[in-house]
Amino acid sequence: MLTSLKGKSVIVTGGSKGIGRGIAQVFARQGAKVTIAARNEADLKSAANEMGGEVRYEICNVADWASVQGMIDSTAEAQGGLDVMCANAGAFPQTKMIDMDPSEWDEVMAINLKSSFLCVKASIPHFEKAGKGRVVLTSSITGPITGFPGWAHYGASKSGQLGFLKTAAMELSRYNTTINAVMPGNIYTEGLQDLGQDYLDTMAASIPLKRLGVVEDIGNAALFFASDEAAYITGQQIVVDGGQIIPESLEAIDEI
Ligand code: NAP
Repeated sequence: MLTSLKGKSVIVTGGSKGIGRGIAQVFARQGAKVTIAARNEADLKSAANEMGGEVRYEICNVADWASVQGMIDSTAEAQGGLDVMCANAGAFPQTKMIDMDPSEWDEVMAINLKSSFLCVKASIPHFEKAGKGRVVLTSSITGPITGFPGWAHYGASKSGQLGFLKTAAMELSRYNTTINAVMPGNIYTEGLQDLGQDYLDTMAASIPLKRLGVVEDIGNAALFFASDEAAYITGQQIVVDGGQIIPESLEAIDEI
């Protein structure tokens, strides 16, 4: 049983859908005050209404400094400070390099990697004021551990988040703040659904636990990193993937 996060002020970027929504739901169930942030207001509104608990929303583009800073400052004002920043929003367009416009590379880097820096930078004054804080990044197995055709930019951005994490952990220690990353395998979300049923079926068959993850699987890992019990863990990452990265070959899966 983790120490309660009741009343804690939490931000989850990309909280209107998928993994971010799962993270927000897990924190809201714990009694935390949660702000979900994304671009589409209709999605934010319905997610906040459906989730129950103390959930509000902010419209924000995580690739834009002014937007991120404004979102974090107004959330801190509304929720009486900031305890936990979950920098989760991300995009994964699948395009092989031969067809990839360089502008798509830049866009994926901005949404997935630059956003981690912007979210941390804008949170620092609030952690400094509180004398403590927690950051949880959503990275991926794709990039740091595995590869998949079409995701060169995505994989680079997700590895980049882990590179960022190490120095960020050192700089944030000064504010008694930890930063860690969750590395999901294939989690069933709206974004993943767009890749088609064939992709989902093939993926599930290649995972030792024989299913895709659910968004709460990632939410629970984020909750642990945000808890008092994780106070001495920083600059680290955890894979949450049903064993997906373990098999040496297709034959190894067939042997199960
Ligand atoms: P999703 O279902 O497509 O949801 C993405 C969320 O991010 C939405 O709320 C979206 O809302 C928001 N978002 C996207 N671009 C944004 C921007 N520029 N500014 C603000 N919000 C933005 O995706 P997901 O599958 O939950 O993925 C969430 C995170 O998990 C990503 O970082 C992804 O890389 C990571 N991940 C996912 C999986 C998986 O299997 N699903 C596996 C490994 C890692 P708006 O479009 O309205 O802005």
